[in-house]
Amino acid sequence: MGKEKKKILFVASEADPFIKTGGLADVAGSLPQALIEEGHDVRLVIPQYRQIPNKYKKKMESICHFRTKLAWRDTYLGVNKLEEAGVPVYFIDNKYYFDRDSIYENEDRHEQFAFFSQSVLDMLPVIGFKPDIIHANDWQTGPLPLLFKDRYAQQSYYQDIKIVFTIHNLKYQGQFAGHVAGDVLGVAPEHWESGAIRHNGLLNYMKAGISYADQITTVSESYADEIQTSYFGEGLDYILRMRSDDLSGILNGISYDKFNPKINKNLAARFSAAEIDKKVANKVHIQQKLGLEVDGDKPLIGFISRMVEQKGLDLIKAVFDQIMATGAQFLILGTGEREYEEFFRAKQYEYPNNLSVNIKYDAQLADQIYAGSDLFLMPSRFEPCGLSQLISFRYGTIPIVRETGGLNDTVSSYNEKTGAGTGFSFRNYNAHDMLATIKRAVHFYSKPKIWQQLVKRVMQLDYSWHHSAQKYSELYYNLSQDSELRSKNK
Ligand code: ADP
Repeated sequence: MGKEKKKILFVASEADPFIKTGGLADVAGSLPQALIEEGHDVRLVIPQYRQIPNKYKKKMESICHFRTKLAWRDTYLGVNKLEEAGVPVYFIDNKYYFDRDSIYENEDRHEQFAFFSQSVLDMLPVIGFKPDIIHANDWQTGPLPLLFKDRYAQQSYYQDIKIVFTIHNLKYQGQFAGHVAGDVLGVAPEHWESGAIRHNGLLNYMKAGISYADQITTVSESYADEIQTSYFGEGLDYILRMRSDDLSGILNGISYDKFNPKINKNLAARFSAAEIDKKVANKVHIQQKLGLEVDGDKPLIGFISRMVEQKGLDLIKAVFDQIMATGAQFLILGTGEREYEEFFRAKQYEYPNNLSVNIKYDAQLADQIYAGSDLFLMPSRFEPCGLSQLISFRYGTIPIVRETGGLNDTVSSYNEKTGAGTGFSFRNYNAHDMLATIKRAVHFYSKPKIWQQLVKRVMQLDYSWHHSAQKYSELYYNLSQDSELRSKNK
């Protein structure tokens, strides 16, 4: 079961290595490849943003271009293509919509992503690709299932196509004035009137995706349960409960080729589970590079994240001095809200030898921090999946996490009685619980035998895409079997 080859179009607003603002890009950049390894015909489509590096733009070939109508606007739609790591990638080209300073922070983003969603559907007959499954992701592609239902599903070319919609973060929903439904998307009034695309009097792209997709997935089993409650549901828990029969969680993986301590050229010293003693050279290197006191024996805690409330920054702020009083060093890398950036910048002066604050986005430095740290802190208020704890495992760095969403599903707290566990965790969103857990982790760091066992164990875990790709395969297979059965019974 699940072995039958399917045609899949993966639709996302960002994908590594072309354009990345967060975890969605990691997923869109690595899941299609894993699905191809499962035997499927998988293609990816993203917008052709100005920010995509020229080296990729130069490799693109033009597949077709035609004019399409979005609401009243008659506009150009180009489709370019290249192949990256065995995955055919289409780029939707329109200078007016995607040649912008920012990829998301635009006043007319409702129109940009309406255009993207519609273009993906419009291009299919022109490029001659009829997928069994269209796999859309997050609010930017929420209009796709809506448009499909409204005016594509009835056309013969689109018959039997099934739509999967994956929620990577429910907090970001794409909410716009109600008139956008008619004026921009041009869909029939019944979608608005039924409430299927409306939330709090606004058009809600995320809700549109949830209402009209055939299957909804999210990126961990715990998050799939959590978002059906009012605490985590971001106002959409009721519609998720209504669709709970079609909602499931499939954990993200990470690329084990990209995050590989054996071959990663960004590291000062390469290492593996068989030679964990070499890891410390990475700690010494990063201490030197970032101007910390150089001491291979000091516990080093890393934190790499978007600086937003979700990531538990208020907990870190509340007990920051007590964290530093544990004697650990702290490496911070991230950008985001000013309040947090300024807090850490100010703290930098108080702890010049033990704290390094790096307010920027830097993938190379991130690799060096993952590899050089002993511990990685992720006290998220909520976390759909979280990739950083998986990357930490890969580099033999022990995560300290709050038990929520994907963190709950991937990290098991160290049990000193049985010796089991892959990290340290706490349940309540509470700064003192977090502090106690950091202290506990630092305590066990001082016990080399226990620590080496832990490091070795997490490096041997397998969070590559393999298992998750099999689960997606099964989901695609079941969905298209449904439609085959239905057409046989007609
Ligand atoms: P989210 O998608 O909510 O931002 P994830 O843990 O799923 O969180 O994914 C975040 C990804 O972005 C990880 O690969 C992490 O290493 C990376 N990342 C976050 N901030 C930075 C930064 N400032 N520099 C380099 N990489 C970063």
